Amino acid sequence: MKVWIDQDLCTGDGLCEEIAPEVFFARDDGLFYVKESAGNFGAEKLFDGIANPAGAEGMARIPDNGIESVIESAEECPGECIFIEVE
Ligand code: SF4
Repeated sequence: MKVWIDQDLCTGDGLCEEIAPEVFFARDDGLFYVKESAGNFGAEKLFDGIANPAGAEGMARIPDNGIESVIESAEECPGECIFIEVE
């Protein structure tokens, strides 16, 4: 499973990071992005290492132990902008 955020709809409240900090993080623009953390995938992956692409281009794999919290984040997200894709 993979997850991405539509930053055009993100309110920047940070709820997703509170629920699943291993998957969601904030950037300097005040919006939230997805990542593949080192603890889950062996190496931190912010995609190009500097600027994580927005939208579907910034799609990250969800670790098996993070699926429940990512689903909860998507359900609670006030912007309704967290999208989960099943492979
Ligand atoms: S919960 Fe949704 S609206 Fe809030 S910061 Fe995360 S992606 Fe943005």
